[in-house]
This record gives sequence, C-alpha cells and structure tokens, in this order.
Amino acid sequence: MNKVLILIAVLAVSSCSHKPIKFEQKPSVVVEPVKEPIENAKFKFLPSSLATIDDAITVTKIEEKVNEAVNGECFKNEMLKPGLKLNETKDSPQIVYSKIKSAQIEAVISYYSQRFTSAVAYAEKGIFYFNRRMIGGWSICDFASTALHESTHLSPLNYSHAFKNYKGREMTVPYYMNQIMEKCCK
Ligand SMILES: [Zn+2]
Repeated sequence: MNKVLILIAVLAVSSCSHKPIKFEQKPSVVVEPVKEPIENAKFKFLPSSLATIDDAITVTKIEEKVNEAVNGECFKNEMLKPGLKLNETKDSPQIVYSKIKSAQIEAVISYYSQRFTSAVAYAEKGIFYFNRRMIGGWSICDFASTALHESTHLSPLNYSHAFKNYKGREMTVPYYMNQIMEKCCK
C-alpha cells in the first residue's frame, strides 16, 4: 500500500468514528489567597453624629483602651490559659483569640436614656447604645469593657449569650471579655 492509500484509510476510519472530542480537563488548582498576618486587632469606634465633644473624646479613649488591651500580653494570657472553657460557642479559646486578634471591627457609639432597665448597653446594626442612666461614674475601662463585649456580637465574630442570666453565662465569649477587661484594662 502506498502512502496515499494509507492516508485515505486512516481518514475513512477516523471520519466514521462519531466519538465526541474530549478535552482533557485538568483539575483546576485552587490557590489559597495568602492572608497577610494581621499583627494587631483593629477596633474602630466612632462617635454618633449627635455626640457632644465630651462624648467624642470618650469614644477616642474607649477605642484606645480596647486596642491596647486586646493586643496586650494580659489578654493573650487570659485567652490561652490552660483549661479555659468558653460557653455557647464551638470555637476553642485559641480560635476565639485568633478571631478577635484578626478582627477589623467598626462601630458607632451612641447613647439612649432608659430608666427602668438594668441594661447598660446593646448593639444594633453596628451601633452600640449606652444607657446614659446606667453609666454615671463609669471609668474609660468600664466603657471599653462594654464596647469589647458588644464588639464580639458583631460580624465577623458573632458570639452570643443567653438573654437570661445563668451560672455559666459569665463564661460566654462576650461576658468573658468583661472579665478580661477587668484584669487587663489599665
Ligand atoms: Zn451581650
């Protein structure tokens, strides 16, 4: 058989085959974005547009105290101490710590006045409302403690606690923040 015939034969065979052409699909390589390690937690608190100058100054100090505490050794030691068990979360204390350390929280601090309640503050849509009737005589660390508690309710942290008080509530993430701040906010 000469070369021409071989070629015809090959073409004939291949033209009879109706096999769909398959393109080899290479498994796509998922490249994990390199996460920049965030050295320091960044909590940003802004005064509401209705704030007085004094309120605005307080907010700046609250921000300073929260960042100072969260990025300090005392906070680290309290979060990573052996045997620590936090309630109402599946996260280990190590995970909670790293989440807080890499959080970029921003919230507005505002006030409300309500007499017949024991509530000192609540968070709603990124705004922390402090009850003016409950905060008389508060130190900056008291504010910072509450601001950090409320911050842990916000995304991306999203930690919560039961509304009603019970024995283990002090060991939920938000309330543990209050305990930490009592020790670590100077
Ligand atoms: Zn809370």
